[in-house]
Amino acid sequence: MSKLIIIVAPSGAGKSTLVKKIRKDFNELKESVSYTTRKMRADEIEGVSYFFISKEEFQKKIDHDDFLEWALVHSNYYGTSKSFIKQQLDNGHSILLDIDTQGADALKAIYADKAKAIFICPPSIEELEKRLINRGSDSPDVIKERVANAKKELLKKNDYDFMILNDDLEAAYKELKKIIGEVLNT
Ligand code: ADP
Ligand code: 5GP
Repeated sequence: MSKLIIIVAPSGAGKSTLVKKIRKDFNELKESVSYTTRKMRADEIEGVSYFFISKEEFQKKIDHDDFLEWALVHSNYYGTSKSFIKQQLDNGHSILLDIDTQGADALKAIYADKAKAIFICPPSIEELEKRLINRGSDSPDVIKERVANAKKELLKKNDYDFMILNDDLEAAYKELKKIIGEVLNT
């Protein structure tokens, strides 16, 4: 049965790093590329990282009911394409999604057991802040907002199907790989 594998984590927990590894090991997973109003980062690629659109375009998509779910996250809008998900599921594919806690809750409500959410937890808020600073992709104000939001998101760390502590990257990935393998085989 096709599945929705949702990776959820506060910003800076290491989600993108882990998703890159999943991409290599699980070729069969179709990745949902979200739409966002956030500015593109230097290392990002249009249509691969996200579809980068204006607030006006995003609003139009909401009006046309193009999103399966959408949310305001760290002062920017993010949304999951309804047609993409529907098409992949219709074709029997499993899907990988990197979305926030609001999006994970929305998709779990729609798809129930077909959707499995894995929460990636940082070792501490201090370490998460260090990672965001070292990543060098966000301004100090943006980092402050993401750290404040992380404190709230971490309260939900045990609300999902699985929780992985991303302290040692390789150990965290080993656990993640095992979980995804099991989910895809059930
Ligand atoms: P997210 O996608 O969750 O915002 P990233 O994957 O961009 O997070 O990771 C944030 C930063 O932390 C990156 O610079 C990444 O290289 C680093 N990082 C990720 N996992 C670990 C880890 N286990 N230990 C140390 N640094 C890590
Ligand atoms: P970033 O700006 O760091 O790429 O992402 C910020 C947050 O938005 C992350 O938690 C990411 O998972 C989340 N996000 C990305 N796409 C979507 C989406 O389509 N829907 C929702 N709800 N969250 C998303």
